[in-house]
Amino acid sequence: MSTTIETPVRVKWVYFFGDGAAEGNARMRDTLGGKGAGLAEMTNAGIPVPPGYTITTAACRQFYEAGGALLDSIVSEEDDALRRLEKMLGRRLGDPANPLLVSVRSGSPLSMPGMMDTVLNLGLNDETVAGLARQSNERFAWDAYRRFVQMFGRIVQNVEGLDVVFDAAKDKAGVKQDTELNAEQLQAITDQLKKHVQKHTEKPFPTDVVTQLELAIKAVFSSWMGRRAVDYRNQFKIPHDLGTAVNVVTMVFGNMGDDSGTGVAFTRDPNTGERVLYGEYLTNAQGEDVVAGIRTAPKIAQMATDMPAVFDEFQRIGQQLERHYRDVQDLEFTIERGKLYMLQTRSAKRTAAAAVKIAVDMVADGTISEREAVARIEPAQVDQLLRAQFDPVARKDAKRIAKGLNASPGAAVGRAVFDADDAVEWVGRGEKVVLVRIETSPDDFHGMAVAQGILTARGGATSHAAVVARQIGKPCVAGCAELLIDYGAKSARSSDSGVAFKEGDWISVDGTTGEVFLGALPTVEARFEDQTELKTILDWADGIRRMGVWTNADKPEEAAQARSYGAQGIGLCRTEHMFREGDRLEIVRGAILVANRATRAKARRAAGAEISADEQQDVATFDAAMAKLEKLQQGDFEGIFKAMDGLPVVIRLIDPPLHEFLPNLEEQLVKVTRAEDAGGASEADTELLATIRSLHEQNPMLGLRGCRLGLMIPDFVKIQTRAILNAEIAVKKAGGNPIAKIMIPLVGHVNELAATRALLEAEATAVREAAGGIDVEYKFGTMIEVPRGALTADEIAREADFFSFGTNDLTQMTFGYSRDDAEGGFLLKYVEDKILPYNPFQTLDDAVAGLMKIAVDKGRSTKPGIELGICGEHGGDPESIHKCERIGLDYVSCSPFRVPVARLAAAQAALANAAERDR
Ligand code: PEP
Ligand code: MG
Repeated sequence: MSTTIETPVRVKWVYFFGDGAAEGNARMRDTLGGKGAGLAEMTNAGIPVPPGYTITTAACRQFYEAGGALLDSIVSEEDDALRRLEKMLGRRLGDPANPLLVSVRSGSPLSMPGMMDTVLNLGLNDETVAGLARQSNERFAWDAYRRFVQMFGRIVQNVEGLDVVFDAAKDKAGVKQDTELNAEQLQAITDQLKKHVQKHTEKPFPTDVVTQLELAIKAVFSSWMGRRAVDYRNQFKIPHDLGTAVNVVTMVFGNMGDDSGTGVAFTRDPNTGERVLYGEYLTNAQGEDVVAGIRTAPKIAQMATDMPAVFDEFQRIGQQLERHYRDVQDLEFTIERGKLYMLQTRSAKRTAAAAVKIAVDMVADGTISEREAVARIEPAQVDQLLRAQFDPVARKDAKRIAKGLNASPGAAVGRAVFDADDAVEWVGRGEKVVLVRIETSPDDFHGMAVAQGILTARGGATSHAAVVARQIGKPCVAGCAELLIDYGAKSARSSDSGVAFKEGDWISVDGTTGEVFLGALPTVEARFEDQTELKTILDWADGIRRMGVWTNADKPEEAAQARSYGAQGIGLCRTEHMFREGDRLEIVRGAILVANRATRAKARRAAGAEISADEQQDVATFDAAMAKLEKLQQGDFEGIFKAMDGLPVVIRLIDPPLHEFLPNLEEQLVKVTRAEDAGGASEADTELLATIRSLHEQNPMLGLRGCRLGLMIPDFVKIQTRAILNAEIAVKKAGGNPIAKIMIPLVGHVNELAATRALLEAEATAVREAAGGIDVEYKFGTMIEVPRGALTADEIAREADFFSFGTNDLTQMTFGYSRDDAEGGFLLKYVEDKILPYNPFQTLDDAVAGLMKIAVDKGRSTKPGIELGICGEHGGDPESIHKCERIGLDYVSCSPFRVPVARLAAAQAALANAAERDR
């Protein structure tokens, strides 16, 4: 038997860089942080970087594990690195004759600009300041010391008021600029600052340089959990356990005279993407002077005049780094007595417009591939480019009324109106309006259609307001619970901000952020047609993606819009939306009032029974209304088939419960009661009330809707089938190429689908016979939106050519959350309290995706070629699109304005999936 002695793997806590060689490199971001990895990489690339070392993020995590203490092994490795640095430079930290000064800087794996702390000029005390003076001059040395005390006191020792002490001292000396202070004045001020620190900490300012360094390192580690950093990470969903690295870097001085300077610059303009150096610099200054705006820094181009040779070198290094990192860089640099040092390089943050231009330009110059260009654009940036935005400057000063859910992006400005009819009236007078409702219902559609934007107090990401707003491309803030709306007074007030507005007041709604402002903020418009570079990126995306991108559209104009954005079909045409156009509601109501009676009478008649004269009348009324509806719908479908000529159009038969087409029960009750009090209600109103009552359900979303409705009142299926197929015939006759797919909603049991199919096929046969030789073709499919439907998808697939996942309902029924109420109630609080990681009506929940995967596998087990798509709101959400790719759907369908985003997201999902497979 042999024994092995385990040698513990030694963790390396500190990585050195200097003299053209570094222990780390760019791939070590996780360990060294972005800054440390960048300094190492630049050193290795022969770029001038002041030498130093990086203490790893693992050391930071260890620091927290040890309750805020540094492990001995970390301290000893750090000490070794310091000795190595001192040896390399021939200077020592704390050496009065030849002192080494260092900066101590944070640097996390994911960029968190300005969120953590930095200490400069560390290593100065009453002795070393003299040594520094000998290396430079008295004034410079005391200025550096003064800065160090101020920074160290504020950042490491949490002493407030040091800037006030300094400003007061400047005032007393009668100077405005720091540069006007002489050595004696600076020495006196340094003394005052140290006294201020001592007063607050009750200890003398630390003169021991080793203590200074240890405290500064600990302070940087501690700043990882500082309020600012934690808030930033929460905002940008950066994990809290990454930790920050600490970079200890030899000080180089940009404030050693007019041949010195410091600055920050981007290798391309981060606003426009133009290929010009963009940034600022200051001569005779230290880094924080630029950031703090102590002096107005000239544009970087000025450097070409001030120091042409250094400028050339800087430009060359910028290009080298851009090529090296294959991306635009954000650079920090210092020039010490004519010598350039690079202090930081990182990928530059940029606007959406710049991101797209830069990606296209970099493909053109061969820096990156088309795939990389596609991978680099964030879906949100595409969205931004397609929507009007508020002018960022104006928005900063705007008065915020409230914040709700960012339900449909873009900026809308208009006068507040509180009723859909009022919206139409105001718009008729040439006004722009924002429709403000407690929540919207299909009855408000006409108001939403004419409004610039929509604001609701209740309802979430799949609420009526949100779904319709996205579909018609209007900005919408939904579920703004703090907004107390008084329809009677036509006014609203935020319970949080207290800001109120009334009908006619200008308000501005930001559907991208969920904010609502008082007044009319200026906007910046966007037009897809003009966005050549964006279109190029999307064309490349089309070449990469596996899934198709279809659209949810109910009208020819929406279909045409979506097609211009690149939609490859209609994945959901909600036919019931057509029931509300113009004066159709009256026809629909006429049919609904007698629907049940007429259906019963027809069934009895079909069974051979005699029906009464009253019943005959009901049947006649019902049939007449349905015939009108059929004709109107046929016209609608013709329009849609024409707009989508040659592309598939999935038409879903009626889905919502019938009461949705009738007036609200309470409103009708009030109307009838009032009329009765005043002498008597009309027969029509009384009958309407009785019908509304008879159709009333406690849980309408779980009630008589979808395929259930079609099976109870088969004429709905019949007339819609005829309307679709006759539209197909008409368009074919006119030379078009309509591709019809008929979809049945809310199927939970295969028998529901089989029964509906039988009804529909009988009708189709009749249409075919009457078609006079024209081929009548259609595919027959179902939505999978009821959990039982998903779990029995193998059985359902026997009856279906295609499935489309209705993830709005599937989410509702999987969680048991009402999609109409949950977001206005507990759901957003759940997300805030992290009970749920995100809103499952916005981003597909993993369990819901799991159910879909079961349905995909089961469906394909019965019918391998079955076509699978999604038409719930998740079809336009990038994260959900990634999940759809993993599940193996054939296409996603989303509202027209989300089509470009979905094209990009589908391509990125394909790339991510391929990368995962290769791993
Ligand atoms: C769904 O439920 O996801 C769906 C698309 O249907 P609707 O939103 O019309 O219920
Ligand atoms: Mg549904």
